[in-house]
Amino acid sequence: MRKIQMVDLQTQYMQIKGDIDRGIQEVIDSASFVKGKKVQEFAEHLQEYTGARHVIPVGNGTDALQIALMSLGLERGDEVITPTFTFIATAEVVALLGLTPVVVDVDWETMNMDVEAVRRAITPKTKAIVPVHLFGQCANMEELLGIAAEKGLYVVEDACQGIGSVYTFSDGRKAQAGTMGEIGCTSFFPSKNLGCYGDGGALFTNDDELAARIKAIANHGMMVRYHHDIVGVNSRLDTIQAAVLDAKLPHLDEYISSRQTAAACYNEAFMGNEDILTPGKNAQSTHVYHQYTLRLSERVAPYRADIQKKLADKGIPSMVYYPVPLHLQKAYQDARYKEGDFPVAERLSGCVMSLPMHTCLDDEQLRYITENVLNAVKEV
Ligand SMILES: *Cc1c(COP(=O)(O)O)cnc(C)c1O
Repeated sequence: MRKIQMVDLQTQYMQIKGDIDRGIQEVIDSASFVKGKKVQEFAEHLQEYTGARHVIPVGNGTDALQIALMSLGLERGDEVITPTFTFIATAEVVALLGLTPVVVDVDWETMNMDVEAVRRAITPKTKAIVPVHLFGQCANMEELLGIAAEKGLYVVEDACQGIGSVYTFSDGRKAQAGTMGEIGCTSFFPSKNLGCYGDGGALFTNDDELAARIKAIANHGMMVRYHHDIVGVNSRLDTIQAAVLDAKLPHLDEYISSRQTAAACYNEAFMGNEDILTPGKNAQSTHVYHQYTLRLSERVAPYRADIQKKLADKGIPSMVYYPVPLHLQKAYQDARYKEGDFPVAERLSGCVMSLPMHTCLDDEQLRYITENVLNAVKEV
């Protein structure tokens, strides 16, 4: 059996080695490492794939989120609502820009932003909502967009884990993760659903004016060469990374279905086990399983580290995404929040466990993982 990894990028590379190597070599031959033509080509292909009117590639997903918030003309002290159960980058950029992160609890089943909590968190200072499509499943976009429209708020989607996920509105209209709010942000970090071989990210928007501002901000606030109308940053997708991504994009749907097949196998093995709760589904969204994150029962959750150790001893890695919610992180301590304020997120932090998830898990590996997870849970 092949070694089991959380993410197996070597096997995936071997499957498309020819295309990747050729793409990278072309960039080296052209010596056009920054703003090479592959960057624009890839952006166009991603535009076709997602249906977004504009795709603006940048240096990474965190930059994408920061640039998105910079482009909205927010002012110091304006409030931005994010879930408390997410990767830190979502709130980090809010804090860095001198905006005020307001965190809300999440839904126990989908682990995504709790819509009622968002409603309660809105104040006259609220300017934007940043839903995260956590683990690869869209947040409750129809209701969030409804609230935003009613209250005049921006929606910036953190689709860093959600690229390729499709949301169906109740009128039947379908949209890709990242293309529903004013702006969507994604990451091409190697382990993400569409990952490059270093750092990368992109913004999506359907708004022409916002697209122009975003492009300028990502390029030192420059609209006309060496004329800087707004304060910007330097954030670009390297041409070599664009070449890798352009070789991988045609396989994204196939990658997603491999992940879904692996997730279905996990779901089936754990179905009915009272100590293992499989990921809850939002009926309006597909799940692209950036992570397969199960929840341990109250009985076994206190022994999560022991379960992980048992699995590690069998050569099965596992991870805890995320062990500490934002409101309990040291850097984000805030007089407004205390332990106990967001019970669902706090409970999730104590009981979630992510299993190996990537595009090259085979039946033998999946069987070995599920058998050992079931045993480890039973034994504690
Ligand atoms: C990965 C990730 C980011 C940041 O992306 P980088 O490319 O690593 O900067 C932001 N938000 C979420 C939810 C992520 O998973």
